[in-house]
Amino acid sequence: MGKVLMIGAGGVGTVVAHKLAQNADVFTDIMIASRTKTKCDAIAEAIAKYGKARISTEKVDADNVAELVTLFKSFAPEIVINVALPYQDLTIMDACLEAGVNYLDTANYEPLDEAHFEYSWQWAYRERFEKAGLTAILGCGFDPGVSGVFTAYAAKHHFDEMHSLDIVDCNAGDHHKAFATNFNPEINIREITQKGRYYQDGKWVETGSLEIHQPVTYPNIGPRESYLLYHEELESLVLSFPTIKRARFWMTFGQEYLTHLRVIQNIGMARIDEIDYNGQKIVPIQFLKAVLPNPQDLGENYQGETSIGCRISGLKDGKPTTYYIYNNCSHEAAYKETGMQGVSYTTGVPAMIGAMMFLKGIWKKVGVHNVEEFDPDPFLEQLGKQGLPWHEILNKDLEF
Ligand code: NDP
Repeated sequence: MGKVLMIGAGGVGTVVAHKLAQNADVFTDIMIASRTKTKCDAIAEAIAKYGKARISTEKVDADNVAELVTLFKSFAPEIVINVALPYQDLTIMDACLEAGVNYLDTANYEPLDEAHFEYSWQWAYRERFEKAGLTAILGCGFDPGVSGVFTAYAAKHHFDEMHSLDIVDCNAGDHHKAFATNFNPEINIREITQKGRYYQDGKWVETGSLEIHQPVTYPNIGPRESYLLYHEELESLVLSFPTIKRARFWMTFGQEYLTHLRVIQNIGMARIDEIDYNGQKIVPIQFLKAVLPNPQDLGENYQGETSIGCRISGLKDGKPTTYYIYNNCSHEAAYKETGMQGVSYTTGVPAMIGAMMFLKGIWKKVGVHNVEEFDPDPFLEQLGKQGLPWHEILNKDLEF
Protein backbone atom coordinates (compact mmCIF):
# COMPACT_ATOMS: atom_id res chain seq x y z
CA MET A 1 0.00 0.00 0.00
CA GLY A 2 2.68 2.54 0.86
CA LYS A 3 6.22 3.73 1.36
CA VAL A 4 7.31 4.92 4.77
CA LEU A 5 10.54 6.52 5.97
CA MET A 6 11.38 6.34 9.66
CA ILE A 7 14.01 8.67 11.16
CA GLY A 8 15.73 7.63 14.41
CA ALA A 9 17.09 4.21 15.31
CA GLY A 10 16.79 4.27 19.10
CA GLY A 11 14.50 2.33 21.44
CA VAL A 12 11.28 3.72 19.99
CA GLY A 13 12.55 3.44 16.41
CA THR A 14 13.34 -0.23 16.92
CA VAL A 15 9.76 -0.95 17.99
CA VAL A 16 8.28 1.13 15.15
CA ALA A 17 10.41 -0.84 12.66
CA HIS A 18 9.21 -4.20 14.03
CA LYS A 19 5.61 -3.07 13.84
CA LEU A 20 5.95 -1.63 10.32
CA ALA A 21 7.48 -4.89 9.10
CA GLN A 22 4.76 -6.94 10.82
CA ASN A 23 2.20 -4.94 8.82
CA ALA A 24 3.78 -5.32 5.39
CA ASP A 25 0.36 -5.34 3.69
CA VAL A 26 0.20 -1.62 4.59
CA PHE A 27 3.91 -0.73 4.67
CA THR A 28 5.34 -2.31 1.54
CA ASP A 29 8.58 -0.27 1.48
CA ILE A 30 10.32 0.75 4.68
CA MET A 31 13.39 2.96 4.93
CA ILE A 32 15.18 3.31 8.27
CA ALA A 33 17.36 6.43 8.39
CA SER A 34 19.32 7.87 11.28
CA ARG A 35 22.57 9.53 12.31
CA THR A 36 24.36 6.20 12.85
CA LYS A 37 23.78 3.87 9.90
CA THR A 38 25.06 0.76 11.68
CA LYS A 39 22.12 1.05 14.10
CA CYS A 40 19.71 1.21 11.14
CA ASP A 41 21.36 -1.84 9.61
CA ALA A 42 21.06 -3.80 12.86
CA ILE A 43 17.33 -3.03 13.02
CA ALA A 44 16.87 -3.95 9.36
CA GLU A 45 18.54 -7.28 10.05
CA ALA A 46 16.31 -7.93 13.06
CA ILE A 47 13.08 -7.23 11.19
CA ALA A 48 14.03 -9.14 8.02
CA LYS A 49 12.49 -12.23 9.68
CA TYR A 50 8.97 -10.90 9.06
CA GLY A 51 9.60 -11.10 5.28
CA LYS A 52 7.48 -9.36 2.64
CA ALA A 53 8.34 -5.63 3.10
CA ARG A 54 11.26 -4.15 1.14
CA ILE A 55 13.63 -2.67 3.73
CA SER A 56 16.45 -0.22 3.15
CA THR A 57 18.66 1.93 5.40
CA GLU A 58 20.39 5.28 5.03
CA LYS A 59 22.51 7.68 7.03
CA VAL A 60 20.98 11.13 7.56
CA ASP A 61 21.61 14.14 9.75
CA ALA A 62 18.11 15.27 10.65
CA ASP A 63 19.39 18.69 11.73
CA ASN A 64 20.27 19.33 8.10
CA VAL A 65 17.23 20.24 5.96
CA ALA A 66 19.05 19.97 2.63
CA GLU A 67 20.28 16.47 3.46
CA LEU A 68 16.76 15.43 4.49
CA VAL A 69 15.22 16.86 1.31
CA THR A 70 17.67 14.93 -0.87
CA LEU A 71 16.82 11.72 0.97
CA PHE A 72 13.05 12.33 0.85
CA LYS A 73 13.17 13.09 -2.88
CA SER A 74 15.20 10.02 -3.71
CA PHE A 75 13.10 7.56 -1.66
CA ALA A 76 9.79 9.41 -2.19
CA PRO A 77 7.92 8.13 0.90
CA GLU A 78 4.29 8.97 1.49
CA ILE A 79 4.91 9.66 5.15
CA VAL A 80 7.89 10.25 7.43
CA ILE A 81 7.75 8.89 10.98
CA ASN A 82 9.99 11.06 13.13
CA VAL A 83 11.27 9.09 16.12
CA ALA A 84 14.57 10.95 16.38
CA LEU A 85 14.64 13.60 19.13
CA PRO A 86 12.27 16.55 19.67
CA TYR A 87 15.12 18.89 18.59
CA GLN A 88 14.70 17.65 15.01
CA ASP A 89 10.92 18.19 14.65
CA LEU A 90 11.12 21.51 12.81
CA THR A 91 13.93 20.61 10.41
CA ILE A 92 12.07 17.43 9.45
CA MET A 93 8.81 19.38 9.00
CA ASP A 94 10.67 21.91 6.81
CA ALA A 95 12.06 19.10 4.68
CA CYS A 96 8.61 17.47 4.40
CA LEU A 97 7.21 20.74 3.04
CA GLU A 98 10.03 21.09 0.54
CA ALA A 99 9.86 17.49 -0.68
CA GLY A 100 6.05 17.11 -0.50
CA VAL A 101 5.95 14.39 2.18
CA ASN A 102 3.47 13.88 5.06
CA TYR A 103 4.72 13.90 8.66
CA LEU A 104 4.15 12.14 12.01
CA ASP A 105 5.99 12.43 15.33
CA THR A 106 5.70 11.35 18.98
CA ALA A 107 7.00 14.39 20.87
CA ASN A 108 6.65 18.13 20.37
CA TYR A 109 9.50 20.41 19.39
CA GLU A 110 11.96 21.44 22.05
CA PRO A 111 14.85 23.84 21.47
CA LEU A 112 18.23 22.39 22.41
CA ASP A 113 19.21 25.35 24.58
CA GLU A 114 15.93 25.69 26.53
CA ALA A 115 14.15 22.95 28.52
CA HIS A 116 10.78 24.11 27.33
CA PHE A 117 8.22 22.50 25.08
CA GLU A 118 4.98 23.77 23.62
CA TYR A 119 3.03 23.25 20.41
CA SER A 120 3.21 26.85 19.15
CA TRP A 121 6.34 26.16 17.08
CA GLN A 122 4.71 23.27 15.24
CA TRP A 123 1.21 24.79 15.08
CA ALA A 124 2.85 27.69 13.23
CA TYR A 125 3.25 25.25 10.27
CA ARG A 126 -0.52 24.77 9.88
CA GLU A 127 -1.02 27.11 6.94
CA ARG A 128 2.05 25.84 5.09
CA PHE A 129 0.95 22.21 5.42
CA GLU A 130 -2.59 23.15 4.32
CA LYS A 131 -1.31 25.02 1.27
CA ALA A 132 0.98 22.13 0.36
CA GLY A 133 -1.93 19.66 0.71
CA LEU A 134 0.04 17.70 3.31
CA THR A 135 -0.89 16.16 6.67
CA ALA A 136 1.19 16.43 9.84
CA ILE A 137 0.14 14.24 12.79
CA LEU A 138 1.64 15.49 16.05
CA GLY A 139 2.32 13.51 19.22
CA CYS A 140 1.38 9.97 18.17
CA GLY A 141 3.15 7.91 20.85
CA PHE A 142 1.41 6.78 24.04
CA ASP A 143 1.43 9.99 26.05
CA PRO A 144 1.14 12.13 24.02
CA GLY A 145 -0.70 9.94 21.57
CA VAL A 146 -2.97 7.22 22.90
CA SER A 147 -3.82 9.55 25.84
CA GLY A 148 -5.38 11.96 23.29
CA VAL A 149 -7.11 9.15 21.37
CA PHE A 150 -8.53 7.76 24.66
CA THR A 151 -9.86 11.24 25.51
CA ALA A 152 -11.41 11.63 22.04
CA TYR A 153 -13.00 8.17 22.39
CA ALA A 154 -14.44 9.13 25.79
CA ALA A 155 -15.88 12.34 24.34
CA LYS A 156 -17.38 10.47 21.39
CA HIS A 157 -18.93 7.54 23.25
CA HIS A 158 -19.28 8.27 26.95
CA PHE A 159 -19.82 11.97 27.63
CA ASP A 160 -21.94 14.88 26.50
CA GLU A 161 -19.59 17.10 28.49
CA MET A 162 -16.21 16.25 30.02
CA HIS A 163 -15.29 18.24 33.12
CA SER A 164 -12.07 16.77 34.51
CA LEU A 165 -9.26 14.82 32.87
CA ASP A 166 -6.45 13.11 34.77
CA ILE A 167 -3.90 11.26 32.65
CA VAL A 168 -2.18 8.67 34.85
CA ASP A 169 1.12 7.09 33.84
CA CYS A 170 2.60 4.34 35.99
CA ASN A 171 5.74 2.38 35.30
CA ALA A 172 5.78 -0.42 37.85
CA GLY A 173 8.64 -2.19 36.13
CA ASP A 174 11.99 -3.05 37.71
CA HIS A 175 15.11 -2.95 35.50
CA HIS A 176 17.45 -3.80 38.39
CA LYS A 177 19.65 -0.73 37.84
CA ALA A 178 20.30 1.86 40.56
CA PHE A 179 19.23 4.64 38.20
CA ALA A 180 18.20 4.65 34.55
CA THR A 181 15.66 6.46 32.41
CA ASN A 182 13.23 4.62 30.17
CA PHE A 183 13.72 6.76 27.12
CA ASN A 184 16.36 9.22 26.01
CA PRO A 185 17.82 10.39 29.37
CA GLU A 186 18.43 13.95 28.23
CA ILE A 187 14.82 14.45 27.09
CA ASN A 188 13.44 12.56 30.10
CA ILE A 189 15.39 14.49 32.76
CA ARG A 190 14.63 17.84 31.08
CA GLU A 191 10.91 16.95 31.20
CA ILE A 192 10.78 15.85 34.82
CA THR A 193 12.90 18.56 36.40
CA GLN A 194 10.91 21.45 34.99
CA LYS A 195 8.10 23.13 36.95
CA GLY A 196 4.73 21.34 37.17
CA ARG A 197 1.65 22.85 35.54
CA TYR A 198 -2.02 21.98 35.27
CA TYR A 199 -5.15 23.52 33.81
CA GLN A 200 -7.93 24.82 36.04
CA ASP A 201 -10.95 26.92 35.01
CA GLY A 202 -9.38 28.40 31.91
CA LYS A 203 -5.97 29.12 33.45
CA TRP A 204 -2.65 27.33 33.83
CA VAL A 205 -1.52 26.88 37.42
CA GLU A 206 2.22 26.47 38.00
CA THR A 207 3.63 24.27 40.78
CA GLY A 208 7.11 23.45 42.01
CA SER A 209 8.85 20.52 40.33
CA LEU A 210 7.11 17.30 41.54
CA GLU A 211 5.56 19.34 44.39
CA ILE A 212 2.05 17.82 44.21
CA HIS A 213 1.70 14.08 44.67
CA GLN A 214 -0.74 11.47 45.92
CA PRO A 215 -1.13 7.70 45.79
CA VAL A 216 -3.14 6.37 42.85
CA THR A 217 -4.21 2.72 42.46
CA TYR A 218 -3.28 1.15 39.12
CA PRO A 219 -4.95 -2.02 37.77
CA ASN A 220 -2.99 -5.20 38.42
CA ILE A 221 -0.29 -3.10 40.17
CA GLY A 222 -1.81 -1.46 43.25
CA PRO A 223 -1.20 1.95 44.81
CA ARG A 224 1.81 3.99 43.64
CA GLU A 225 2.82 7.52 44.58
CA SER A 226 1.99 9.67 41.55
CA TYR A 227 3.46 13.12 40.85
CA LEU A 228 1.84 15.99 38.98
CA LEU A 229 3.91 17.00 35.93
CA TYR A 230 3.31 19.27 32.99
CA HIS A 231 2.86 17.16 29.89
CA GLU A 232 2.47 18.41 26.34
CA GLU A 233 -0.88 16.83 25.42
CA LEU A 234 -2.65 18.91 28.08
CA GLU A 235 -2.06 21.99 25.90
CA SER A 236 -3.98 20.64 22.91
CA LEU A 237 -6.60 18.60 24.79
CA VAL A 238 -8.04 21.58 26.71
CA LEU A 239 -8.42 23.41 23.38
CA SER A 240 -9.94 20.42 21.57
CA PHE A 241 -12.39 19.76 24.44
CA PRO A 242 -13.30 23.17 25.86
CA THR A 243 -15.78 21.81 28.46
CA ILE A 244 -12.81 20.42 30.42
CA LYS A 245 -12.43 22.51 33.57
CA ARG A 246 -9.44 20.73 35.07
CA ALA A 247 -6.71 18.77 33.25
CA ARG A 248 -3.71 17.20 34.94
CA PHE A 249 -0.98 14.66 34.23
CA TRP A 250 0.44 12.27 36.83
CA MET A 251 3.46 9.99 36.68
CA THR A 252 4.77 7.50 39.24
CA PHE A 253 8.33 7.60 40.57
CA GLY A 254 10.02 5.45 43.19
CA GLN A 255 11.92 7.03 46.10
CA GLU A 256 15.28 5.76 44.79
CA TYR A 257 14.68 7.42 41.43
CA LEU A 258 13.73 10.72 43.05
CA THR A 259 16.78 10.69 45.33
CA HIS A 260 19.09 10.13 42.35
CA LEU A 261 17.31 12.87 40.43
CA ARG A 262 17.69 15.32 43.32
CA VAL A 263 21.41 14.60 43.58
CA ILE A 264 21.86 14.92 39.80
CA GLN A 265 20.22 18.35 39.95
CA ASN A 266 22.03 19.49 43.08
CA ILE A 267 25.45 18.68 41.69
CA GLY A 268 24.74 20.42 38.40
CA MET A 269 24.62 17.35 36.19
CA ALA A 270 21.15 18.25 34.83
CA ARG A 271 22.47 21.56 33.42
CA ILE A 272 21.79 22.08 29.72
CA ASP A 273 24.22 24.99 29.18
CA GLU A 274 27.78 24.56 27.97
CA ILE A 275 30.59 24.53 30.50
CA ASP A 276 34.31 24.60 30.02
CA TYR A 277 36.01 21.33 30.99
CA ASN A 278 39.78 21.31 30.57
CA GLY A 279 39.53 23.62 27.59
CA GLN A 280 36.70 21.64 26.04
CA LYS A 281 33.04 22.69 25.92
CA ILE A 282 30.66 20.09 27.32
CA VAL A 283 26.98 20.11 28.29
CA PRO A 284 26.62 18.30 31.65
CA ILE A 285 23.30 16.58 30.82
CA GLN A 286 24.78 15.25 27.55
CA PHE A 287 27.79 13.90 29.45
CA LEU A 288 25.40 12.32 31.97
CA LYS A 289 23.53 10.62 29.10
CA ALA A 290 26.81 9.09 27.96
CA VAL A 291 27.47 7.45 31.35
CA LEU A 292 23.92 6.36 32.25
CA PRO A 293 22.58 2.98 31.13
CA ASN A 294 21.31 3.07 27.57
CA PRO A 295 17.48 2.76 27.74
CA GLN A 296 17.68 0.27 24.85
CA ASP A 297 19.72 -2.11 27.01
CA LEU A 298 17.22 -2.20 29.89
CA GLY A 299 14.84 -4.67 28.26
CA GLU A 300 16.60 -7.92 29.04
CA ASN A 301 16.08 -7.83 32.81
CA TYR A 302 13.01 -5.64 32.92
CA GLN A 303 10.14 -7.14 34.91
CA GLY A 304 6.67 -5.82 35.64
CA GLU A 305 4.38 -3.61 33.65
CA THR A 306 3.35 -0.10 32.71
CA SER A 307 -0.20 1.18 33.12
CA ILE A 308 -1.25 4.36 31.36
CA GLY A 309 -4.75 5.74 31.02
CA CYS A 310 -7.22 8.59 31.29
CA ARG A 311 -9.58 9.17 34.22
CA ILE A 312 -12.40 11.44 33.19
CA SER A 313 -15.49 12.86 34.86
CA GLY A 314 -18.39 14.75 33.33
CA LEU A 315 -22.02 14.43 32.30
CA LYS A 316 -23.86 11.91 30.14
CA ASP A 317 -27.61 12.35 29.59
CA GLY A 318 -27.60 14.87 32.43
CA LYS A 319 -26.09 12.37 34.91
CA PRO A 320 -22.64 12.64 36.55
CA THR A 321 -20.41 10.00 34.96
CA THR A 322 -16.87 8.76 35.52
CA TYR A 323 -14.77 6.82 33.04
CA TYR A 324 -11.34 5.21 33.14
CA ILE A 325 -9.70 3.86 29.99
CA TYR A 326 -6.24 2.32 30.15
CA ASN A 327 -3.65 -0.12 28.84
CA ASN A 328 -1.24 -2.27 30.81
CA CYS A 329 1.90 -3.36 28.98
CA SER A 330 4.33 -6.04 30.15
CA HIS A 331 8.03 -5.21 29.82
CA GLU A 332 8.88 -8.90 29.40
CA ALA A 333 6.37 -9.40 26.58
CA ALA A 334 7.59 -6.23 24.82
CA TYR A 335 11.19 -7.44 25.07
CA LYS A 336 10.34 -10.88 23.80
CA GLU A 337 8.69 -9.46 20.71
CA THR A 338 11.00 -6.55 19.84
CA GLY A 339 14.09 -6.66 22.10
CA MET A 340 12.97 -3.36 23.70
CA GLN A 341 11.27 -2.56 27.03
CA GLY A 342 7.67 -1.51 27.56
CA VAL A 343 8.16 2.27 27.41
CA SER A 344 9.67 2.07 23.90
CA TYR A 345 6.95 -0.45 22.97
CA THR A 346 4.03 1.69 24.15
CA THR A 347 5.44 4.60 22.12
CA GLY A 348 6.38 2.71 18.95
CA VAL A 349 3.13 0.77 18.46
CA PRO A 350 0.91 3.91 18.32
CA ALA A 351 3.37 5.67 16.00
CA MET A 352 3.02 2.78 13.55
CA ILE A 353 -0.78 2.80 13.90
CA GLY A 354 -0.90 6.57 13.21
CA ALA A 355 1.06 6.02 9.99
CA MET A 356 -1.25 3.11 9.13
CA MET A 357 -4.32 5.33 9.69
CA PHE A 358 -2.78 7.86 7.34
CA LEU A 359 -1.89 5.39 4.58
CA LYS A 360 -5.36 3.84 4.76
CA GLY A 361 -6.76 7.35 4.20
CA ILE A 362 -8.60 7.37 7.56
CA TRP A 363 -6.42 10.01 9.25
CA LYS A 364 -5.74 12.08 6.15
CA LYS A 365 -6.55 15.73 6.71
CA VAL A 366 -4.40 18.52 5.31
CA GLY A 367 -2.77 20.78 7.89
CA VAL A 368 -1.08 20.15 11.24
CA HIS A 369 -3.18 18.14 13.69
CA ASN A 370 -3.00 16.61 17.14
CA VAL A 371 -4.25 13.03 17.38
CA GLU A 372 -7.52 13.84 19.15
CA GLU A 373 -8.69 15.70 16.03
CA PHE A 374 -9.05 12.37 14.17
CA ASP A 375 -11.60 9.56 14.52
CA PRO A 376 -10.45 7.51 17.56
CA ASP A 377 -12.44 4.34 16.69
CA PRO A 378 -10.33 2.84 13.87
CA PHE A 379 -7.13 3.65 15.79
CA LEU A 380 -8.37 1.90 18.95
CA GLU A 381 -9.57 -1.03 16.88
CA GLN A 382 -5.93 -1.54 15.85
CA LEU A 383 -4.35 -0.79 19.25
CA GLY A 384 -5.38 -4.10 20.83
CA LYS A 385 -4.60 -6.10 17.69
CA GLN A 386 -1.11 -4.60 17.51
CA GLY A 387 -0.17 -5.53 21.08
CA LEU A 388 -1.68 -2.91 23.39
CA PRO A 389 -5.12 -4.09 24.53
CA TRP A 390 -7.17 -1.48 26.35
CA HIS A 391 -9.88 -1.64 29.01
CA GLU A 392 -12.69 0.57 30.28
CA ILE A 393 -14.22 1.08 33.72
CA LEU A 394 -17.41 3.09 33.97
CA ASN A 395 -18.75 4.88 37.04
CA LYS A 396 -16.18 3.79 39.60
CA ASP A 397 -14.25 6.03 41.99
CA LEU A 398 -11.51 7.90 40.05
CA GLU A 399 -9.52 8.61 43.27
CA PHE A 400 -9.22 12.31 42.37
P1 NDP B 1 16.86 7.41 21.55
O1 NDP B 1 17.81 8.42 22.08
O2 NDP B 1 16.98 5.99 21.94
O3 NDP B 1 16.87 7.44 19.94
C1 NDP B 1 16.92 8.61 19.21
C2 NDP B 1 17.44 8.28 17.83
O4 NDP B 1 17.47 9.47 17.06
C3 NDP B 1 18.87 7.73 17.85
O5 NDP B 1 18.96 6.66 16.95
C4 NDP B 1 19.69 8.91 17.39
O6 NDP B 1 20.86 8.61 16.70
C5 NDP B 1 18.73 9.57 16.43
N1 NDP B 1 19.10 10.96 16.23
C6 NDP B 1 19.36 11.90 17.16
N2 NDP B 1 19.72 13.05 16.58
C7 NDP B 1 19.70 12.82 15.24
C8 NDP B 1 19.98 13.61 14.11
N3 NDP B 1 20.37 14.88 14.22
N4 NDP B 1 19.87 13.04 12.89
C9 NDP B 1 19.47 11.75 12.75
N5 NDP B 1 19.19 10.97 13.78
C10 NDP B 1 19.30 11.50 15.02
O7 NDP B 1 15.40 7.97 21.91
P2 NDP B 1 14.05 7.13 22.08
O8 NDP B 1 13.96 6.11 21.01
O9 NDP B 1 13.95 6.74 23.50
O10 NDP B 1 12.96 8.27 21.82
C11 NDP B 1 12.65 8.68 20.49
C12 NDP B 1 11.57 9.77 20.54
O11 NDP B 1 10.40 9.25 21.15
C13 NDP B 1 11.96 11.01 21.36
O12 NDP B 1 11.55 12.14 20.63
C14 NDP B 1 11.14 10.88 22.61
O13 NDP B 1 10.85 12.13 23.19
C15 NDP B 1 9.89 10.22 22.07
N6 NDP B 1 9.10 9.51 23.10
C16 NDP B 1 7.74 9.71 23.09
C17 NDP B 1 6.94 9.07 24.04
C18 NDP B 1 5.45 9.19 23.96
O14 NDP B 1 4.74 8.41 24.61
N7 NDP B 1 4.88 10.07 23.18
C19 NDP B 1 7.52 8.23 25.09
C20 NDP B 1 8.95 7.99 24.94
C21 NDP B 1 9.70 8.65 23.98
P3 NDP B 1 22.14 7.90 17.41
O15 NDP B 1 21.73 6.48 17.47
O16 NDP B 1 23.27 8.16 16.50
O17 NDP B 1 22.27 8.56 18.76
